[in-house]
Amino acid sequence: MNQLICRATGETYPLNDLRWCSDSGGLLDLDLKLHFDPDRIKRRRANLWRYRKVLPLGAPVEPVSLGEPVTPLTAVAYQGQEVRFKQDYLFPTGSYKDRGAAVMISQAAALGVKRVVQDSSGNAGCSVAAYAARAGIACEIFVPADTSPAKLTQIRAYGAQVRLVPGSREDTAAAAMEAARDTFYASHVWNPFFFQGTKTFAYEVCEQLNWDAPDTVILPAGNGTLILGAFIGFRELHQMGIIRHIPRIIAVQAANCAPLYTAFEAGADDPVAVETDKTLAEGIAIALPRRGKQMLEYVRESGGKFLAVEEEEIREALREMVSKGYFIEPTSAAVVAGVGQYLRHHAEPGERIVSIMTGSGLKSVEKITGMLA
Ligand SMILES: *Cc1c(COP(=O)(O)O)cnc(C)c1O
Repeated sequence: MNQLICRATGETYPLNDLRWCSDSGGLLDLDLKLHFDPDRIKRRRANLWRYRKVLPLGAPVEPVSLGEPVTPLTAVAYQGQEVRFKQDYLFPTGSYKDRGAAVMISQAAALGVKRVVQDSSGNAGCSVAAYAARAGIACEIFVPADTSPAKLTQIRAYGAQVRLVPGSREDTAAAAMEAARDTFYASHVWNPFFFQGTKTFAYEVCEQLNWDAPDTVILPAGNGTLILGAFIGFRELHQMGIIRHIPRIIAVQAANCAPLYTAFEAGADDPVAVETDKTLAEGIAIALPRRGKQMLEYVRESGGKFLAVEEEEIREALREMVSKGYFIEPTSAAVVAGVGQYLRHHAEPGERIVSIMTGSGLKSVEKITGMLA
């Protein structure tokens, strides 16, 4: 039976429980029994919902959709080697976070949720606001009071209420969790359905490689929506016998904010408290990733590792990708910088490497102006 399961205690709850944590306050995962036959989806439309059979939403769900494409897996010659990139900046709100929001908000809408709260000043907030708008669900987004107004425009434009919270990013999360006592917490960190959405990254990549897995997948590591989702997807495909191995996951952090890289290098199971500095890759600048332990576990299980990239490498990667015609945002460029580091120090000849362009540069034109100068 499909159910929610507490990571810490193993307590289980029905899939349809409108809860975002366990009774003991722990993180929830999904415990799923899946069946999937690749042959049976061949004629389905090329969008995220072609994998619906493995998206166990707890009710007969009408997808809340803005037209989530199967994104191109494009070969790019990077530093003399071919790397394939999923062009996920082509999603409706401009980032791959739409994968998670589409599935999470579809589940919420099917269960009759009328209001959601969320905390994010960035792409997750945009995605949740957009899908809530599409579903006719009222949406409130909590953000740190010092968030730049430009970043809030897209969220506000979708009709979401923005609540400015004084203090740290942690204070903002606490305010959202308080509001979530009597409202649905549409959190990209806590809600396990969000990861059901991001796992479609793995299904798409394998389908685009004729149901084979690449050797290596290079992904950003902030809160882990992509790393965890991708690992869940690859693990499912492996367990169902559809792919022969789980690719190694290479997780990229900004050196200026690298609690997981530091923990990985130290052999630790939990993120390490680190000094942080501002980084161009603000989308992955997460000093205390709530699912950090899980991220370390999955990356290790995949046989992968963490990398840390310097600001100059991020700037260089952005210039290089933009000059090739891919107008990505600075956080995306950090992943590309990780690809460069991996190619220089770790890659084997002929290794099949997949990475991702996570977000559109159109979201941060001002910042990019400074970076290209
Ligand atoms: C969210 C995001 C990331 C990082 O994802 P995490 O879930 O925080 O690990 C990377 N790039 C972009 C553009 C993002 O929006």
